[in-house]
Amino acid sequence: MTFAQALASAAALGLERLDSQLLVLHVLGRPQTDRAWLLAHDADPLEPALQEAFRLLCERRAIGEPLAYIVGHKEFFGLRLAVDERVLVPRPDTETLVEWALDILPVQSAASVVDLGTGSGAIALAIKKHRPAAQVEAVDAGAGALAVAGANAQALGLGVTFRQASWLGASEARYDLIVSNPPYVAEGDPHLAALAHEPLSALAAGADGLRDIRTIVRQAPSHLVRGGWLLLEHGFDQAEAVRALLAAAGFGRVASRRDIQGIERCSGGQWLELG
Ligand code: GLN
Repeated sequence: MTFAQALASAAALGLERLDSQLLVLHVLGRPQTDRAWLLAHDADPLEPALQEAFRLLCERRAIGEPLAYIVGHKEFFGLRLAVDERVLVPRPDTETLVEWALDILPVQSAASVVDLGTGSGAIALAIKKHRPAAQVEAVDAGAGALAVAGANAQALGLGVTFRQASWLGASEARYDLIVSNPPYVAEGDPHLAALAHEPLSALAAGADGLRDIRTIVRQAPSHLVRGGWLLLEHGFDQAEAVRALLAAAGFGRVASRRDIQGIERCSGGQWLELG
């Protein structure tokens, strides 16, 4: 079987061409950036042992397992992050939240930042990478997620500190910036079926999807310095509700930002009060 025939067999299973190309490269042990090489070699033979390995990976992909879990990593904000079923796969949407955080933090900033529900560590690590003097802490309720995030920090040589907690519950610290991509999908949302391979605890948040956002908005004021910011990612139809929650909690300069698809994907506000 040639590479071209292997790709055709994956298409017959219903895989997208890009995914099959990345899986062929994965079984060959070649970098995912080698797609041009693969196209130039499409008449090369794929050895029988690798054909079998490829077929098994294609079957996993065909039943909806995220490509990132199969190949074991995902690119986020220019960082290569190891991911597995203990964490949500980082989404490009979330780069909007990182960009907003970087806009708030001056380049040499030594600000204290916390990422709540860090999962793979994506947000915390991207901020630390671009604001190396900032003190970045990453919190998650799950030991499994913290293990993944900690390994990513180590592999990338980024000095983020980790803490196991539910949101800001167990802390008395105050921060200059609180960021979070919490679960925000409504429990009955049919969309969850397509996300069945990822941890439900990272996705679903009560009947309206706002349970954890409400908790964070309620806890944040007593964990922010005066002038500190809270930035939250949320669902495509939640911007107005999240802005209302922030305003009702006393945040100022409440605003939303759009993701790369043009959807209002993050909302945030500044804590301007004393205490
Ligand atoms: N953006 C994810 C999705 O709907 C949800 C992530 C989350 O709940 N934080 O695919």
